[in-house]
Parts: sequence; C-alpha cells; structure tokens
Amino acid sequence: MNNRKLQALRNLAERPGTESEGKLAREILDRLERKLPEDDSEATRWFWFEKYLRTRDMSDLEKACSFPNYCDCGASYRTPKCENLTLHSKIRSQTVELFPKGTRIYYNRWAYEPNSPGIVMGYPRDAERLWNWMRIKFYSLKSARNVPVYSRSGYHVSIEPVNRPELQK
Ligand SMILES: [Zn+2]
Repeated sequence: MNNRKLQALRNLAERPGTESEGKLAREILDRLERKLPEDDSEATRWFWFEKYLRTRDMSDLEKACSFPNYCDCGASYRTPKCENLTLHSKIRSQTVELFPKGTRIYYNRWAYEPNSPGIVMGYPRDAERLWNWMRIKFYSLKSARNVPVYSRSGYHVSIEPVNRPELQK
C-alpha cells in the first residue's frame, strides 16, 4: 500500500471540498480496509483515485468507489457488505462437517508458515460475521486463535499437507 496515496485519501475523507467528495472518500477508505489480501479490486480503486487526484473529476472518484468488492464466498457486491447469507451459512455447515472439532489440520494462508499444523477447537459464535472462520490451536502457538479458513480460492485448511501452498494465498 502506498502511504502517500493513503494519506491523500484520508485527508480527503476528513477535509473534503464538498459533501459528496467526503462521502465517496470515506467509502473508498472503508472498502480498502476491508479488502481481501488477494483482492485485485484494490489496484483498480487506486488507479481511479490517483486519476482523480490529477483531474479532480468527480466521476473518477465515483469510479474508484463503484468498483465491486469480492466476498470470501466468491460473490461480488456493491452494497456495504455481502448479502449472500444463505451461501455463507452453507459454507459454514460444510466447514463443520469437513473439519469437525478435534480434527488435525494444516493451515495455509499468507502470513503463516506453509502447512502450519494445528487442531480444530471450534467455530466462532458470531456465525453471521465470521462465517468462514475457525478456532485453531496451532502447535507453534500457546493459545488457540480464530482465523479465516475459506476464501474465493477455496479452503486454507486441509487434512493432509499441501504441496504447493503458494497457490493458496
Ligand atoms: Zn459473501
């Protein structure tokens, strides 16, 4: 993330020239903060925001904001959050079925060592918000923690170690 651009966006959100400018800037900030690590829509947002900084054309700012977000369930959405609740709860049940409490698993996601071994301790109670999360006790850590286990690219947990963890970012 480019700090200078981010600062420009924050400045605009806090001290907008017009009301709609501020509203759009806050929406873009919010979307960027909630983005997925693999979400390619971030680059597109920055592209339009940078263009806006040069042109000061409100339609460029609108484009930066209207580009859809991608939910971990795979759906794209323009609403503040994904409304695909049926799919979320289906994935949640499937997760519980595939990886019941006590299952030995390997976890693969960016920021973690490839094939981090652990054991399934449960699933966060806030099923609506954390529908794709799991509570895992990693062997390398003292206490259990909640981590996301499903995204657009599929599961980040498996029963067997995976060969090419770099593909499961
Ligand atoms: Zn979704």
